[in-house]
Amino acid sequence: MLGTKEAFLSMGISKEVFDFGNSVLEGLKDRFEQIDQVAEINQLKVLGAMQKHQVSEACLLGTTGYGYNDIGRDALEAVYASVFHTEDALVRPQITCGTHALALALMSNLRPGDELLSPVGKPYDTLEEVIGIRPSKGSLAEYGVSYRQIDLLPDGSFDFDGIRKAINEKTKLVTIQRSKGYQTRPTLSVARIGELIAFIKSIKSDVLCMVDNCYGEFVETMEPSDVGADMVVGSLIKNPGGGLAPIGGYIAGKKECVENAAYRLTSPGLGKEVGASLGILPQFYQGLFLAPTVTASALKGAIFAANLYEKLGFPVIPNGSESRHDIIQAVTFGKPEGVIAFCEGIQAAAPVDSHVTPEPWDMPGYDAKVIMAAGAFVSGSSIELSADGPIKEPYAVYFQGGLTWPHAKYGILKTLESLKSKGIIQL
Ligand SMILES: *Cc1c(COP(=O)(O)O)cnc(C)c1O
Repeated sequence: MLGTKEAFLSMGISKEVFDFGNSVLEGLKDRFEQIDQVAEINQLKVLGAMQKHQVSEACLLGTTGYGYNDIGRDALEAVYASVFHTEDALVRPQITCGTHALALALMSNLRPGDELLSPVGKPYDTLEEVIGIRPSKGSLAEYGVSYRQIDLLPDGSFDFDGIRKAINEKTKLVTIQRSKGYQTRPTLSVARIGELIAFIKSIKSDVLCMVDNCYGEFVETMEPSDVGADMVVGSLIKNPGGGLAPIGGYIAGKKECVENAAYRLTSPGLGKEVGASLGILPQFYQGLFLAPTVTASALKGAIFAANLYEKLGFPVIPNGSESRHDIIQAVTFGKPEGVIAFCEGIQAAAPVDSHVTPEPWDMPGYDAKVIMAAGAFVSGSSIELSADGPIKEPYAVYFQGGLTWPHAKYGILKTLESLKSKGIIQL
């Protein structure tokens, strides 16, 4: 049988890369132990929720047609509500992605004449069209919902004065994005989100606070709904789907907010009562069950990559020692060849499509070519090991996911191998 080193060598990792990787790993033992502790707590939280709601074999069967009396769907939503400590939840395959879940939460809880506020700067790209920051058919702006934005201060802190002044009689809903997404601001910890929500509610107590929870689930032992968020919203092809959910989104929160979202998703009068789960429930349940340890694997990968590339002299966000609040890792190469070589390494390490070479292409909605590496079981899944980077200054790659830690480790070593073979790094 092969030892660890021989196994990696047999899969195209050189001795130099393996030794460098291991020397960096030596210093990460304490942090990995902390990540495992968080995963244990979250695993028990999920397990406890499943037991409390008596998830049974019948819950895994699913329904067709209208989906009346879908006990598995209803129990799953109760489980999500328990995990997030909210009154209710909507967890559906009919919610097609994260953007859809966020749009649904916004459009169902805002009415013409209301105002939406983002106190943490520009929201995720796709939300610009939902809100109407970039004109778009069917946007909130078209329906007479106005929008205000207060940017973070240059040091990353909240602009409390600006936020106070921006809240007015029309302000109905505040949207807070937990993850930095593809920006360079810091990701918000749950504690900081709690501070922000408390401040906002002290100015206007009935304003609804929604958190875009994408990439943040199970990274900490608390979720934004534990610190006052009225809704948390996310995608099932990221953390909470555990890699197994092939589609879906969730909204967990106050009963009234979730009810509004359900009436918008299906129809006024129907709400949560319809929406057949078809055959999807086993993946939703099992994915949620695996999500805490899958998220831990992705986090270990992100921290490993940060430390390796930091040691090689590349700027990394977050840096190697910072505390983590999401699973995204940015590495800045300063030249296109670095971004391309990194993505080629991730692709070559994939279980699916490892034999193809990713190339920069003109993606709709982007102003530069983008290269993406994703050899995923679920198309576009970014809880699976994946990376992408726009081919423009500062030539940074965004890397995330990894269903298992050994795969994340291998993928990152493959990126080093790829950069090394092109002479971009020397070991
Ligand atoms: C991924 C993501 C979204 C959108 O999710 P999609 O599933 O890609 O539509 C929104 N916000 C943040 C912070 C995200 O990371």
